[in-house]
Amino acid sequence: MNFYSLHHKAPNTNFKNAVINGIAPDRGLYFPESITPLPDSFFNEIEHLDNTEIAFRAIKQFVGNDIPENDLKTIVEDTLQFHFPLVKVEKNVYSLELYHGPTMAFKDVGARFMARCLQYFNRNSDDKVTVLVATSGDTGGAVASGFLGVKGVDVVILYPKGKVSDIQERQLTTLGQNITALEVDGVFDDCQDMVKSAFLDTGITDSRKLTSANSINVARWMPQLFYYLFAYKALKSKGKEIAFSVPSGNFGNICAGILAHKLGMPAKQFIASTNVNDVIPKFMETGNFNPVASKQTISNAMDVGNPSNFVRIQELYDNDLSALKEIFSSTSYTDDATRKTMKEVYNKSGYVADPHGAVGYLGLKDYLKNEPETVGVFLETAHPVKFLDVVQNTLHIDVDIPSQIQAVLNKKKTKIAIKSYDDLRSYLLQTR
Ligand SMILES: *Cc1c(COP(=O)(O)O)cnc(C)c1O
Repeated sequence: MNFYSLHHKAPNTNFKNAVINGIAPDRGLYFPESITPLPDSFFNEIEHLDNTEIAFRAIKQFVGNDIPENDLKTIVEDTLQFHFPLVKVEKNVYSLELYHGPTMAFKDVGARFMARCLQYFNRNSDDKVTVLVATSGDTGGAVASGFLGVKGVDVVILYPKGKVSDIQERQLTTLGQNITALEVDGVFDDCQDMVKSAFLDTGITDSRKLTSANSINVARWMPQLFYYLFAYKALKSKGKEIAFSVPSGNFGNICAGILAHKLGMPAKQFIASTNVNDVIPKFMETGNFNPVASKQTISNAMDVGNPSNFVRIQELYDNDLSALKEIFSSTSYTDDATRKTMKEVYNKSGYVADPHGAVGYLGLKDYLKNEPETVGVFLETAHPVKFLDVVQNTLHIDVDIPSQIQAVLNKKKTKIAIKSYDDLRSYLLQTR
């Protein structure tokens, strides 16, 4: 399978190069040249397939011949070493819990899949790649855990000082080995800008191969489509149409859901639920895409002012807004509404939602008001423990600390403080 750049000014390339490059030379996102629906038999028998088999069959066409089938199956199996339970919260409302992986955020699947692909591509080579990634919280931990000890890969993570939770900081500063954390005196957007500058800096890229592990990378973005197939499998016997509500920031996760739909998975609606960072809800209303600086919220993994994957969603519908509107909608919620919902859900059903999941729940409930025959799934993208302060202060309950988190709590944080792009540049040149 080849991938083309959405800027259309770079050559098409195979899966392997798309993964290693991260972004096309013309700065466009890579997009698959074709999307062939899976056979009807796949959906007819999906309840008899295990997660590995479902995921393998779904991703195979995009990987093409770059990874032999047996190796790909192993990669998929190693990636999916945890559960994806679909939990009933109330009538017609289900939570798809994506947080049972090593860092307890849904980004584990994409990070683990990408790490294993890079490891495969590096198996017979002494070439080194540096994964350079900016994080507002969860990406850093998932990438650090996914890439720990992977041969031929160094990971450099930039995070904004004082803007990630203590647990998140520990997840990216305590692993050591091939993982380095850079603490940036600034906000997330500064981290992101520094990473972008490094990719464009030939002084660095001439001597050090850089790639991205943000959801712009196809190996991180695409495997997220598995979640939707797992939910479909679990709900299929109900014989109802399914709406998915996805707490969205960079719109990679929901875009992967729509990709699952393009592969033939029946779905009634995809709802992108956002916090007050509402560039896409506004776009759906006005047709104008106006990126702005991100605002800080209690669902901070979605504090994105310029959602990079939305261009892929538009491409899936040939940039036709009215076609997109038939399957996709987007709504925005304040922190107050989010807290109120966390309380209501907890009081009504005992279910503890993290702030991101609560935003997803809100979007779903608003949609279902007019759709009583549809069954709804919201994606629970992080374990409540990852946003412990908000959850405890809102619900006044204790949250059990799972073993994955216990393991990092007492480890020593190791990080390098940087202030400017020049600091990042010196670091990358000195350690190459
Ligand atoms: C990254 C993240 C999101 C947003 O996902 P996108 O693919 O960027 O839209 C939502 N919730 C949590 C907990 C996250 O870590």
